[in-house]
Amino acid sequence: MPADATALLAAARADADRTVDLRRRLHRRPEVGLHLPETQAAVLEAFADLPVEVTTGRSTSSVVGVLRGARPGPTYLLRGDMDALPVQEDTGLDFASEVPGVMHACGHDTHVAMLLGAARLLAERRDALAGQVVFMVQPGEEGFHGARHMLDEGLVDVVPEAPVSGAFALHVSTMWRSGTVNVRGGAMMASADQWTLVVHGRGGHASTPHLAADPVPVAAEIVLALQSMVTRRVDVFDPAVVTVGRLEAGTTDNIIPATALLHGTIRTLSPERRADVLAAVQRVGEHVARAHDMTAEFVRIEGYPVTVNDAGVAAQVTATASALLGEDRSSVMPVPLMGAEDFSYVLEQVPGAMAFLGACPPELDPETAPGNHSNLVRFDEDALPAGVALYAQMALQALGG
Ligand SMILES: [Zn+2]
Repeated sequence: MPADATALLAAARADADRTVDLRRRLHRRPEVGLHLPETQAAVLEAFADLPVEVTTGRSTSSVVGVLRGARPGPTYLLRGDMDALPVQEDTGLDFASEVPGVMHACGHDTHVAMLLGAARLLAERRDALAGQVVFMVQPGEEGFHGARHMLDEGLVDVVPEAPVSGAFALHVSTMWRSGTVNVRGGAMMASADQWTLVVHGRGGHASTPHLAADPVPVAAEIVLALQSMVTRRVDVFDPAVVTVGRLEAGTTDNIIPATALLHGTIRTLSPERRADVLAAVQRVGEHVARAHDMTAEFVRIEGYPVTVNDAGVAAQVTATASALLGEDRSSVMPVPLMGAEDFSYVLEQVPGAMAFLGACPPELDPETAPGNHSNLVRFDEDALPAGVALYAQMALQALGG
């Protein structure tokens, strides 16, 4: 292991109390969405001791910090998201959420704490930096497009003379052993779009369906036709998932309802497949309805794009994690996850990567441990120094010139 990597990890470990302290403070006071005033205040307080220029979002509670190195150079972005989820915490931890019905169940509290830990390490190493580190602290990752708001407000050009030219993010997960880093080049996470189809029939008496236009069998036929569409039209090597998660019609047994609603999600791993399947869901829905002399109204609710890691940067993450943490703690993911992530918006504009930091409590099995978004999920805080060091090392390597 190179001496500088060992020293960086040791420095992250020596500072672990502060990292854990911030994490627990955030964990007690979780907030959901784009407006996170308490969380933002804690982030600003943590940046206040550092030589970091801080700006806050105009339309959201985002925070952007800029650390200038000793010499000029490019600008490298590190992201931590900071929003929580609307779920009641049942972990019994002594720093569990004090806010009813809200919990840091996706570990974004750990992301903020690790990012601030990395900011402290990098501030001490400004002499080694040629360029700027941008700390992107974003709200609203959980479905609120927080990253897109920050990009719209000029995130990439926050240092006008040197637009952001590389980016890195970490996400904790209990799916992996604590302290391991897991990444892959190319598609890392899926796109996730929602859609609805409303089948418009004509209501009537259940005993005389020929006098009505029953949307219920049409809705059922659409569900099956969508599954046939996926298996017959989609290349298995560029896959798609179409799930109808909600199907609603009618009020009781002797009434034919006027409408039926289907509400579903589409997951894909390429922009081309995404566009193709969105169009296919609309086409299948509308045409099955037309076959029965009815109409179907399709609405798309746009979700996150595919998260695509730059292959070279992903390989660099794997090598860096090996050097920092040991080869047995760094692995290449064989397949993507079909969840979605709004760091995808950043990676559409800037080459970079997102990696998973394993944080399964050591007494649990990653196969069966409560996962992200569970009311019972616990993340192992002993993993945090590894994440702090990896964030810092990615920036040091990018700006080491
Ligand atoms: Zn998350």
